[in-house]
Amino acid sequence: MSRGRLLIVGGGQSGLAAARAGRDRGWEPVVLEAGPAPVGSWPAYYESLRLFSPRGYSGFPGYPFLGPPDDYPHRDEVVAHLAGYAAWLGVDIRTSARVASITADDRGGFTAILADGGSVAGDAVIAATGSFQNPFVPQIPGQGEFAGRVLHVAGYSSPEAFAGRRVVVVGAGNSAIQVAYELAQTARVSLAVRDRVQFAPQVIAGRDLHWWLARTRADFLPPAILNRIVKGNPVFDTGTYRTALEAGVPEQRPVFTAFTTDGVTWPDGKREQVDAVIYATGYRPHLSYLSSLDAVDASGTPKHRRGVSTVRPGLGFLGLEFQRTFSSNTLRGVHRDADFVVGALSGQRLRAAVG
Ligand SMILES: Cc1cc2nc3c(=O)[nH]c(=O)nc-3n(C[C@H](O)[C@H](O)[C@H](O)COP(=O)(O)OP(=O)(O)OC[C@H]3O[C@@H](n4cnc5c(N)ncnc54)[C@H](O)[C@@H]3O)c2cc1C
Repeated sequence: MSRGRLLIVGGGQSGLAAARAGRDRGWEPVVLEAGPAPVGSWPAYYESLRLFSPRGYSGFPGYPFLGPPDDYPHRDEVVAHLAGYAAWLGVDIRTSARVASITADDRGGFTAILADGGSVAGDAVIAATGSFQNPFVPQIPGQGEFAGRVLHVAGYSSPEAFAGRRVVVVGAGNSAIQVAYELAQTARVSLAVRDRVQFAPQVIAGRDLHWWLARTRADFLPPAILNRIVKGNPVFDTGTYRTALEAGVPEQRPVFTAFTTDGVTWPDGKREQVDAVIYATGYRPHLSYLSSLDAVDASGTPKHRRGVSTVRPGLGFLGLEFQRTFSSNTLRGVHRDADFVVGALSGQRLRAAVG
């Protein structure tokens, strides 16, 4: 007998992980995906992107990532992997189904109202819409007057348009350094950082870092504990990026203080002409479709504990950064969170039925 219908908003790795965990616990999952295929945001990531996690650490329960386990798959292989996984799951996945809002009824059920006017009723909801559609851009004075190009790395796909240009990439995470390095092969690039780039060696004593993360169980540690050991958001590196930064290609320097009409002003007061500024400054969840549930605070952050809503029984989240562990928002980590969140929703439903 079905435990009930589990509505899953978003058909990326998080939504598919929710569907697998729901299916395994007797729910009837229905995945509602806005795009044309259940492959998440991966097709929109920049063209040269390769995973930082080897294939052997990027598969899903019962569905390994095919190919040599030690190499790092290209973005397009992840897309193919997700599409294959979605078909293999055999659950109800509806594409071109953008959820405009979720409403709750007084019997503990939910209804997803779709942007095309349709609706789907369910007994529980998991919000798995990622954050890629909500890029975060810091406010730096003068941006409105700058005549050059300003974009977030979410909108960057390849370096050709920047060849021969003066470019500033803002950020110190994996995307910032990867894109700055790629651009620096054909453009003059500065990496503008608030804190200096921290590196994590990709390979230690002949083993990929992910082997160590699994072996030491660091992947399972709550963020509060791991943050005492690892500071900041380290960049995975085989040595290529560190060497490039040391050689000044790209150069690393503190973030500029303001835009001018044709460039930027650096902290030492010097002004420089710049053609483009690319923000690689992260993303925020976009959960406005939950607004009628009071499930999100004024800053857009979900009210949750380890992915389970603290205000609305039957509601869970997946794919949030540091939701439960360092690996929550990764291919290798999201399935553990999915089992936890679906387990919690199953417990709530059981208690409601008996109580
Ligand atoms: C550049 C980059 C590189 C990364 N590299 C790695 C890596 O190497 N290894 C790794 O493990 N992780 C990596 N990550 C982190 C993470 O694995 C990815 O961000 C992943 O795509 C997150 O999956 P998700 O399913 O949570 O979100 P997404 O992939 O963003 O999927 C969310 C889905 O929800 C849909 N959606 C949004 N709003 C609605 C709505 N209202 N109604 C219906 N559907 C909706 C979207 O269309 C999308 O398909 C990387 C992230 C980025 C940005």
